[in-house]
Amino acid sequence: MAYGSVRGQLTRRAALFGGGAAVGAYAGAKLSSKVPSLVATQSLQPKGAADTLNDASLLNETPVFRHITIQENPGDALIARLRIEMDEARAEGRPFNVGAARHSMGGHAIPENGHAVTFDNGLLETDVTTLSYRVHPGARWSQVISALDLQGMSPKVMQSNNDFGVAATFCVNAHGWPVPHGPMGATVKSFFLLRPDGELMRVSRDEFPEIFNLTMGGYGLTGAIIDMEVEMVVNKRLVPTFQNISSRDFAPFFIGAIEAGDVNMAYGRLNVDRDRFFEDALMITYREEGDQLALPAASGSEAMSDAAALVFRAQLMNETAKDIRWWFESSLGPRINAGDVTRNSLLNEPVVTLDDGDPTRTDILHEYFVPPVRFAEFVTACQEVIPSSYQEMLNITLRYVAADRESVLAYAPGPRIACVMLFSQEMTLRAEADHRRMTEALIERTLELGGTYYLPYRPHARADQFLRGYPRAEEFVAAKLELDPDRLFRNMFWDTYLEGLV
Ligand SMILES: Cc1cc2nc3c(=O)[nH]c(=O)nc-3n(C[C@H](O)[C@H](O)[C@H](O)COP(=O)(O)OP(=O)(O)OC[C@H]3O[C@@H](n4cnc5c(N)ncnc54)[C@H](O)[C@@H]3O)c2cc1C
Repeated sequence: MAYGSVRGQLTRRAALFGGGAAVGAYAGAKLSSKVPSLVATQSLQPKGAADTLNDASLLNETPVFRHITIQENPGDALIARLRIEMDEARAEGRPFNVGAARHSMGGHAIPENGHAVTFDNGLLETDVTTLSYRVHPGARWSQVISALDLQGMSPKVMQSNNDFGVAATFCVNAHGWPVPHGPMGATVKSFFLLRPDGELMRVSRDEFPEIFNLTMGGYGLTGAIIDMEVEMVVNKRLVPTFQNISSRDFAPFFIGAIEAGDVNMAYGRLNVDRDRFFEDALMITYREEGDQLALPAASGSEAMSDAAALVFRAQLMNETAKDIRWWFESSLGPRINAGDVTRNSLLNEPVVTLDDGDPTRTDILHEYFVPPVRFAEFVTACQEVIPSSYQEMLNITLRYVAADRESVLAYAPGPRIACVMLFSQEMTLRAEADHRRMTEALIERTLELGGTYYLPYRPHARADQFLRGYPRAEEFVAAKLELDPDRLFRNMFWDTYLEGLV
């Protein structure tokens, strides 16, 4: 017994000692190990699963019940097909959504487990007497430019790329380089809307103006647009002027140029290399040339653009390439791009020009709308927030957008400098978390300056930031519920930011 107990004690002591040594050795090995946890590197790459839709972020692979493409012209057949789909969705309690290119990066055109409809039809009829055109809502801008170009006409306002749908552009109320205009919604004269209850209505500033203002920038939540009447302008031969200035002087310089009244298209750029991050600015303004005869056909991206795209992509994690790109753009560009170009050629640029083809990374856009008098402070805010993240910023383009006093979810209640940023993001959990943190910080700083952020990008704003940036959001939700009490028209933007306000 005693022996046994001694043996037991020895055994226990030995076991404790031996065990302690083993644990110690194990812990020591672990503590001295330099291998970090790999959990955060978990990939967010899409799986390409069946019956899913994704958007341009590639981070929103989402199951849908059904996705159909409809090609009918505006008219009875199109309406009948939509009503069948809408009735089925309503009967089954599923969401319904109409989308176009599905580039918006927060699933704005994705109804989770619902019915998704894509329009595919480029119908367009011009009326030169009213300087407007009737267009299928699903027409892409590339189709619109081709049709208008043949008649010497040009879109009045559109985004910087031509892949997007016309109604989609109205529903996000996009803007671009054309000046001195407000967002694209300002150029829409009327449209036909198939309401959530299946009724068809003509909507304009005179007929149902409250629905006009809800639908402009309303992310497809008020019904399906099935026909549109949009303003156009005469296509022009333009010549560029390039001016290098300090970023802090950019706003008065830019606004001054636009207010002078002879500029047709304009944008700005800032350098993004970390040594002189956001210190230097370049302003490019396009004015009409004296000779407006025999304009060439809209060309779009050419060899120069391809070379620029190569340099652009080389910037990824390469500060030298960022320097070279800035030199390319601010010093070489003005010499080799000094020739004339038509307005339509400038607008006719596909997104694919800048695609990097790397499946482990994705391009993420941000956009901030800043009151011009606070622009220098915005530059400082960006210098404090962006380089301390580990996101790779590849570009910032600056635009002018005139006040929008119509849409309920307006991002430019006064004139704004629109700051469009492009980041290349690793598709992992850690990158997504870092990106969210950085975006929240940038939104916070922009809100403090009296500006706001753009809604079609990643859903990284906090709910309180959304409400501060879009103070009429509750009014939007109340009006939407009156029009669509069953909440038939839904998408991931509704699910993320608006459902909680019901
Ligand atoms: C690379 C890139 C560049 C961009 N550049 C700019 C820019 O320069 N300026 C700018 O302002 N924005 C820009 N954006 C944002 C872009 O304008 C929007 O995301 C736009 O909506 C994309 O068009 P889409 O056809 O992909 O729309 P989708 O994402 O398919 O749809 C957008 C919204 O419109 C609704 N919708 C579409 N068609 C209809 C319809 N017929 N009836 C009712 N609702 C409808 C959808 O439900 C959805 O809510 C850019 C985006 C990307 C990815």
